[in-house]
Amino acid sequence: MPARPNTAHTYLSAPAKQRLELLEAQLRNDYSRFIGFPATLDFDYAELLPFLSQVLNNVGDPYVSTWHGVHTKEFEQEVVDFFAELFRAPKGKYWGYVTNGSSECNLYALYVARQKYPNAPVYYSKTAHYGIPKNILLLGMNGVPLDTLPSGEMDYEHLRRELKQRSDTSAIVVATIGTTMTEAKDNVATIKQILLESGVTGSYIHADAALAGTYTALLEPRWPFDFEDGADSVNVSGHKFLGSPVPCGVIIVKKDHQKNIKQNTNYTGSPDSTITGSRNGHTPLIMWYAIQRWGKEGLRQRALGGFENAEYACRRLQAVGWPAWRNPNALTVMLASPSDHLIHKWQLANTGGWSHIICMPGITKDKIDRFIDDLCDTHELPATTEILEVPLVRQRFVETVAQ
Ligand SMILES: *Cc1c(COP(=O)(O)O)cnc(C)c1O
Repeated sequence: MPARPNTAHTYLSAPAKQRLELLEAQLRNDYSRFIGFPATLDFDYAELLPFLSQVLNNVGDPYVSTWHGVHTKEFEQEVVDFFAELFRAPKGKYWGYVTNGSSECNLYALYVARQKYPNAPVYYSKTAHYGIPKNILLLGMNGVPLDTLPSGEMDYEHLRRELKQRSDTSAIVVATIGTTMTEAKDNVATIKQILLESGVTGSYIHADAALAGTYTALLEPRWPFDFEDGADSVNVSGHKFLGSPVPCGVIIVKKDHQKNIKQNTNYTGSPDSTITGSRNGHTPLIMWYAIQRWGKEGLRQRALGGFENAEYACRRLQAVGWPAWRNPNALTVMLASPSDHLIHKWQLANTGGWSHIICMPGITKDKIDRFIDDLCDTHELPATTEILEVPLVRQRFVETVAQ
């Protein structure tokens, strides 16, 4: 076992040390009003501290050891196995690795999809993550953005029409499982059915489940989004619901697809089958630790606790006359944007006059109460002062975003 880091010792000058203390205090202050972004806050990885004194580098393929031994690939494989099972990947016929986050997962998935179908356009909804069009550009692919339903879910009829126009070629579809603004989930089974009916010559579905993958897989009735529902690859972020102090994610793909990736051998002893060269050896440990600590049932309970808080926030907002709504089984509560002052104070995301709070584990009812009290205390009213019916609020959301 490595020695614990010697925190008593300092290599820093007094002013440099002071800067760190100041940063720590600032962060603690910010965390006390951190409700607008999808990060679990209540984790504790103190048992992994000794590994901060270790060099760890998972360079290359997670299933092939490097000539150096300072890696955590066995833990990485266990993380991949856990999520492969959760996402019902075909047994023994999947491949995956721990990434720097879901943006890298999406890049990898589209890379795999392009190797299989070099000329296929990529269909994705306008509420997909902003990294999707960037990845399409990086890979030199053609993107087809699709309209969305009022909830933020993909407009399947639009997908059907667009496929019809290009039914002589193959198709790649990105489904989003928990959009960044409204946490809407695209239905992979529906997408698969539409693809089969469209007559396209081949198809690939990537499910970007960065935010909601873990808990969506643990709830009944099960939302159709995984391998058994028709996905060819699925990803999830580690620093969102699972909880991690550093960004990370995991991508699972069907093994057959992964074979199309060029894997040159090199001086490390491990094939270059991922996007980056050197890879984080600490994040697989962090994700492994969270899996060990919570288990499936623990993670499910944490999600249920979050939903309860989200419903509480939604009802309290509506009770004080503030337009608010949420999608089913979502941790995200949509609300009309407050003033810039409160947006900054509570660090809220914003688009088209709408904001949200995300009731991740660690966001307590007390924090929600303080936020809503703040809204009431400042006597602010949102731009739309009348209490709106929820479906109407949703419609307005779509209209304002579309502008
Ligand atoms: C957060 C998110 C991403 C980007 O993930 P990172 O881990 O921040 O790179 C991609 N897609 C969706 C749906 C997300 O919620």
